[in-house]
Amino acid sequence: MKDGKCPKCGSVEVYSSRDLMLKGGPFGSNSIPVSLASMAALDNYVCTDCGKVESYVADEDKLNEIAGKWKPVRSDSEAE
Ligand SMILES: [Zn+2]
Repeated sequence: MKDGKCPKCGSVEVYSSRDLMLKGGPFGSNSIPVSLASMAALDNYVCTDCGKVESYVADEDKLNEIAGKWKPVRSDSEAE
C-alpha cells in the first residue's frame, strides 16, 4: 500500500498520514505500545475507495526496539 495502490480493491486513491504533525495522535491514540514506557507512532495509509487502512511503524529505532523486546511470531509456530 506504500506504493500508492490498494491491495484490496486495486484503487490508486490511497492517502497517507506520513507527513502529519503529532501523528502519535491525542493521548497516543494513533500509536502502539512497544513496552511499558515506550510507544511507537503509526503512519496510516487509507484507501478512500474501499476504506482499507494499513498502519506502519515509521521510526527505525522503534522497529529495532520491537525486534529486541517482542516475541517473534515465527518461533511460536515452530514450537508447535
Ligand atoms: Zn481499496
